[in-house]
Amino acid sequence: MKALVPVKRVVDYNVKVRVKSDGSGVDIANVKMSMNPFDEIAVEEAVRLKEKGVITEIVAVSVGPVACQETLRTAMAIGADRALLVETSDEVQPLGVAKVLQALIAREQPRLVILGKQAIDDDSNQTGQMLAALAGWPQGTFASKLEVTDARLQVTREVDGGLETVSLALPAVVTADLRLNQPRYVTLPSIMKAKKKPLETLTPAALGVDVTPRLKTLKVAEPPARSAGIRVADVATLVSQLRNNARVI
Ligand code: AMP
Repeated sequence: MKALVPVKRVVDYNVKVRVKSDGSGVDIANVKMSMNPFDEIAVEEAVRLKEKGVITEIVAVSVGPVACQETLRTAMAIGADRALLVETSDEVQPLGVAKVLQALIAREQPRLVILGKQAIDDDSNQTGQMLAALAGWPQGTFASKLEVTDARLQVTREVDGGLETVSLALPAVVTADLRLNQPRYVTLPSIMKAKKKPLETLTPAALGVDVTPRLKTLKVAEPPARSAGIRVADVATLVSQLRNNARVI
């Protein structure tokens, strides 16, 4: 069984992003970029399924500029077998990515697509769901546990108030949540080995996909600065402040 694992290159989660002065977006010039953390978890899960003999081949995919090659090499260092870069320097929104992935499903015939639950730059949480709709495949989102038994997938999902387990027929789409696994530490030998793994470059046009953005960003702004707190002398004053000033009780 082949698995497709989409990986997005995003601003590293440790970086504090700054809004551009014209409010058109965030400044990503000279900022450290990394693989989206949820995608690392998705790659790790695919590798674990391969180690269990459930998956035979893992294909990592990234949609974006040439620099995404680095992200794909990281995916191959974790354990993906080969990579596909769908190269474009234009902005690609979740629907565009989902359409590219749909075209790759037709080309690669995977039985499983494991994505991250969301990209930490746009926080959309849409691509997996859109892909499942376009492909007409069942989906298990926010997965915190995955088991494959007799051509079916048991996905334990993190939902409000607990865990829900759904049983999906393959082929299927799964999106990885934080507690699915702890990605392995990438070793130097695996980084060296990844350099020799195949990385193919395609374009959205070659796949017959139109990735023109459908959404327009009107304005990006910093969150309002928090005002300083106050110290109160005793509980009675605290209650009075909460009741009369903050008006929360
Ligand atoms: P989003 O819907 O943007 O929050 O992204 C959800 C997931 O879709 C990510 O965790 C990735 O697995 C995948 N994805 C989104 N954008 C891309 C991209 N440009 N290239 C590859 N995978 C992507």
